[in-house]
This record gives sequence, C-alpha cells and structure tokens, in this order.
Amino acid sequence: MNQGTPDTIHVGGEWRTAASGATRDILDPADATVLAVVAEGGAEDTDAAVAAARAAFDGGQGPWPRTPVAERAALLRRVADLLARDREELGLLESRDAGKTVEEGRVDVDCVADAFRYFADLVVNETGRVVDAGDPAVHSVVVHEPVGVCALITPWNYPLLQASWKVAPALAAGNTFVLKPSEVTPLTTVALIRLLQEAGLPAGVANLVTGAGDPVGARLAEHPDVDLVSFTGGIVSGTKVMRAAADTVKKVALELGGKNPNVVFADACATPEGFDTAVDQALNAAFIHSGQVCSAGSRLIVEESLRERFVAELASRADKIRIGRGTEDGVECGPLVSAAQLARTESYVDSALDEGAVLRSGGKRGPGEGYFYRPTVLDRCHRGMRVVREEVFGPVLTVETFRTEDEAVALANDTEYGLAGGVWTTDPGRARRVAGRLRHGTVWINDFHPYLPQAEWGGFGRSGVGRELGPTGLAEYRETKHVYQNLDPRPVRWFKG
Ligand code: NAD
Repeated sequence: MNQGTPDTIHVGGEWRTAASGATRDILDPADATVLAVVAEGGAEDTDAAVAAARAAFDGGQGPWPRTPVAERAALLRRVADLLARDREELGLLESRDAGKTVEEGRVDVDCVADAFRYFADLVVNETGRVVDAGDPAVHSVVVHEPVGVCALITPWNYPLLQASWKVAPALAAGNTFVLKPSEVTPLTTVALIRLLQEAGLPAGVANLVTGAGDPVGARLAEHPDVDLVSFTGGIVSGTKVMRAAADTVKKVALELGGKNPNVVFADACATPEGFDTAVDQALNAAFIHSGQVCSAGSRLIVEESLRERFVAELASRADKIRIGRGTEDGVECGPLVSAAQLARTESYVDSALDEGAVLRSGGKRGPGEGYFYRPTVLDRCHRGMRVVREEVFGPVLTVETFRTEDEAVALANDTEYGLAGGVWTTDPGRARRVAGRLRHGTVWINDFHPYLPQAEWGGFGRSGVGRELGPTGLAEYRETKHVYQNLDPRPVRWFKG
C-alpha cells in the first residue's frame, strides 16, 4: 500500500480518505513507532459503503450476484494466485503490523489462498437439489441465493486470515459486502481489497471502511440496509453486535474467544519422545503469536502424577523462547499487538499471583520499547482465579491438575467458552471418550492448533454463533429457497361455492 496516504476507504470501486479527513497512526508493535497512516472512517463513510454495496447487489440483479457460479469460482482462484504472487510482501506486512514472525505471516498468506481455493471448489459443487414432491406433475427444487449486503468485521490477531474466512464464502455465494478490519491492524486488509480489484471484481461488490469499532462496526451492525453481520472478535463487542443487529433481524454469525484446555494424560508421556512432543506442543499451543490466538491452549490440564516433571521442563523451555521483532532471524515470539494488550496481560498475571498462583517462568516484560512480554507459566492454578476463567490473549499458560478421566473432562468443560481443546493420550479408547465429552467446537487428539478449510470452525457456548469454513461456512452466506412448480395445474375446488 501507499504508506502515509490515508486513502484506505474503498467505496464503489474508488479509494477515498475519510469524509471527516481524520486519520489514524498504525504503530509497529516492536518499537511503538508509526508504521503507516490510514483513514479513520466514521458513520458517513460507513453509510456510503453500505449504499455502494446495496447498489451493487441491486436486489440480487447486480452483476456479481448474477455472475455464473463457475465464473465467480474462477475469480476466487485468481485471487488465490495473486496472494501466492505477493506472499513475501504480504507476509512481511502482516508481521510488521500484527507483530507475528515473518514465517507465521507467510503461513497466514498460504492459508488465505487455501481458503479462496476451497470456497471456489465448494461453491461449484454445492448447488441446490431436486426434491421428490411425490407427484410426477410437480417439479420441486431447493436453490441457494446470496443473502445480500454483508458486514464483515474482523479482529487484530489474524487480520488477513480472518478476513478471508468471511470474504471468500461471501463472494462465492454472490453477496456484496462492507469489510471493517480492526483499527489496530488494518494494513493487509487494505492490500486484500486491492487484490480483489486486480482480480476483476466489479466495482461496489467489495467495500472497505477503516476505522474504530464504534462508530464503524456499530453502525454496520445496526444499519437497516445490511442483511448479515459476520463478526470475529471479543465477547464484549460480540454481544453489542448481536444486540444492535436484533432490531432489523439480521443474520448474525459470531466467532468469539476461547479459554481452551489442553489435557495431558500421563500415558502420553510414557516414552521420552511422547514426553518431548507433549511438552513441545503445549508450548506451541500456548505461546504461538505470543498467545494472541482465539484457540490458544492457555489452560494446561495435566495428570497430577506428571505435574512436576512436565511443568519443570515446560518452564525451562519457555525461558529459552527467543522473543523480538517478528522480522528478525531466529525470533520465535513477537511483541503483543499494543500497549493496551501488554497492560492487560500484566494485570492478569498480577491478579493470578495475588490469588496464589506460582510463577514458574516469565512474568515480566521483554526488552526495548516494543510491547514484549515473556512467555509465562503459572502453576497451582484453579477455577477461582480470573486468569483461568477469562481470556488473556497474551503469552500466559495456567496449570491445573487432575487424577481421573472424569475430573479431566470436568475441568476442561468448566468454562463458559467452548472453542477448542486438545487431548494427549496413547489410549485410543480414552481419546475417543474424552473427545466425545468435550463441549468445544474443535477437539484435537495428540495435536494442537491445526485447522482445515474443509472442516467447520466455531464455538460452543459463549465462543459464538454459527461456523466458518467447511460447507456450513458457505451456507452462512446463502439464503435457501424452495421453488415448487406445478406442471399440470388444475382446480382444487377447496371452496365449493
Ligand atoms: P474486539 O472485539 O475488540 O474487536 C473485533 C472487531 O470488532 C474490531 O474490528 C473492532 O473494531 C470491532 N468492534 C469493536 N466494538 C464494536 C462494536 N460495538 N460494534 C461492532 N464492531 C465493533 O476484538 P479484538 O481485540 O480485535 O480481537 C481479539 C478477540 O477476537 C479475542 O477475544 C479473540 O478470541 C477473538 N478472536 C476469535 C476468533 C475465532 O475464530 N473465534 C479468531 C480470532 C480472534
């Protein structure tokens, strides 16, 4: 993007500055210097973007909703190719904006391209179906149509990836949209809109407003001309979105946070390799992207007999994690995204220590002016502690223990969230039993974090409403219509007079 030029609002195919002329500095989380300046959109910009999306949809008669499905799929594949072309540039930009390592940034771009390809393949195969009406004179079909104007609101931790899980199915289904990225990390989303333009998407289909949650996100959620709102973010904003959307009965999809358990049975650590893998993956679960992951395995629930050996090794390895600017060679964890996130993390660790947790590693800031915080392991934790119940969204791992399988399941389910969880065991029966009892949207057995574009992603309980990815992730963006055609109409004589 053209850094320093705050024309990051995209309406009806044109790039603009904010109507108010306001701008926002985007900070580099590694040193708190200004990385870029973007337009700070407001309600006026949001209304203009919704109007453009509404005009482009044109009651389902606009050029994009009427584009044959195969051509829509071809455009999505072109976007995937453009993402692959710009992989290095986008991976670097994501790293600088969100603080993650460049390698994580590159992997994100690959996953974004995968999402576009997946929905391109799916949409051409997920056509409607013929229904047997039990009468040869009746032709009955169920067809899919786009919902209309979609508001897509994304968080700061995986800006490009989270946008793709919404943009790709919304476009595949023939909708138009207004995208609102997080005000903290909007840069790669601006780049994505430029790629959609380059791929040949008609003007007005993809609109973008950079700006704050309130007014931009709030206005989108309440806007009478928006038909669907798909939101990924925290539970506080998510509930506001749901409430605001209720007045106009919008379709609402919410991907909220998680307080995800990682359950380790002693049998998984019976061999040196098993022990090494489980420890390594517990670190990966908790500390990748400095714990700023909705599915972070932030609650280690380990069998009591294993506790001391496991936690000692975990803490010792956590101490060796190399933190620094995500673009530097050898760095394993970047900074937290903002000063606010750093302060939040510190306050959770402080409260845990006040409540009796035992610090085994970390518990302090990293070097320099950036928002660095050392990977932190807190032992002797329990449900009474705020740090165990609430999402920290920082590099903080709590440790709880269990003696029986029932106890492990009860602890893992003892959360109002229900996004994801991991189970480590070599006993296949136990693996299936525990997976079956966990009230979480994704369960990993002997792994942590992988997701597949073809498998649904989302949460039980307060982790959200609806699913992204997989066939359900496309269905969210479609209306379903039953068309019943009588080929041989005759009088029914219901009324005899
Ligand atoms: P956030 O809720 O602060 O912001 C998310 C988005 O909502 C941003 O674009 C923000 O500007 C906007 N927003 C804020 N207030 C709003 C309002 N009143 N109306 C409409 N939009 C509003 O979340 P965040 O801090 O950016 O992201 C972190 C959160 O996102 C964590 O809770 C994390 O677990 C969650 N998350 C969930 C998933 C998932 O798949 N379940 C994925 C990534 C992040």
